[in-house]
Amino acid sequence: MSYKVATVKGIPIYVHITFLLVFLLFAFIFAISVWPYGFRYVEPPIARYILACLTALLFFVTLLIHELSHSLLANSYGLKIQNITLFFFGGISAIENPENVRNIDPSKELNIALAGPLSNIIIGAVLLAFNYFVYGSVFGVPDVTNWVTEGLTTFTANIPTMIFLLGTLNLLLGFFNILPIYPMDGGRVLRAWLAKRNTYEEATNTAVSIGKGFSVVLAVIGIFTNWWLAILALFLYISAAEEGKMFKATTILEDIVVKDIMTTEVLTVDESMPLVEFINFVFQKKHPGYPVIKNGRIVGMITVEDTRHINEAERYAFTVKDIMKEVVSVHPDATALDAFNEMGTHTVGRLVVLDSERNMVGIISRTDLMTAIYLKDNFKNKTNESQNEPQNEPQSES
Ligand SMILES: [Zn+2]
Repeated sequence: MSYKVATVKGIPIYVHITFLLVFLLFAFIFAISVWPYGFRYVEPPIARYILACLTALLFFVTLLIHELSHSLLANSYGLKIQNITLFFFGGISAIENPENVRNIDPSKELNIALAGPLSNIIIGAVLLAFNYFVYGSVFGVPDVTNWVTEGLTTFTANIPTMIFLLGTLNLLLGFFNILPIYPMDGGRVLRAWLAKRNTYEEATNTAVSIGKGFSVVLAVIGIFTNWWLAILALFLYISAAEEGKMFKATTILEDIVVKDIMTTEVLTVDESMPLVEFINFVFQKKHPGYPVIKNGRIVGMITVEDTRHINEAERYAFTVKDIMKEVVSVHPDATALDAFNEMGTHTVGRLVVLDSERNMVGIISRTDLMTAIYLKDNFKNKTNESQNEPQNEPQSES
């Protein structure tokens, strides 16, 4: 649901559909709000809407500058940026993908994370300073008491208001993004700073905890001042927690090799098997998915899901071959994280494990990955506990 709008220095820029909706919402808010937050009394109405749309458009240009600041700096450090996608509030540069960032020097990551919010703070400061020095006030209009008689309801008289709005929004965006709440930019800055002294894993865990703590503080402030701030803080808390969980899962999966957790006893079906027979087979074996075989070679995958849309009568006419899907495979020596990513890209729940000669050696499912995460996580806690035991002994003796 993203549309390509431009390419800057070889980086394609996409706009997500939600972004267009927010653009319209912003333009609408600018059109109905009174000075200095909008253009409500500007005449004629067409001038009002042009000002509102122009402000929304320019604001989104500054959001793009924010993302480009991250991306171009990362580019200069030799990191490849696949694309930039503008979502509903702010954007995502493909660099913000933890796997890419993990392999770079923390001080470079710190600069990359800082570049975005810094660009907004600079833009904001410059725009407000422009109004101040040119019109004598950051609002661009020193006094609105004689609004109509002074002709402030015209298009040109409201350009300083537009500058004020853009400046203020950029400052807000910059300061908001710099809050140390992971996965926001400020949280990344914090993580990179911590990573200079600790391992990447410890740094992320600490940054996630600080982010959670900060969201709670923000929520408490919000409850007493502005409920929107409290709601926002709640979302930030959730995203920090999610990011923490995701990071933990990713770290665990990275250390596991596919062949260690795959299922080696694989039930297969022949491509010539009639669909009715296949459905009976599934009822007996109770597995959701099976590799499809032709002359001993694997030719496809079939799941119970694939048979759902086939009606009763057609089940007699079709064979497995007619509805099977293409094989998505992974090498036995690949990491579980590779398998996880592969499942994500192809939106499948299981992969066939094929060795270098394309022989099937096993099958790996999403459930296998989840079980592995669960077991590794518990096992890891167990080893930590046993490491702590000698330290605890003297305490119990005393
Ligand atoms: Zn950013």
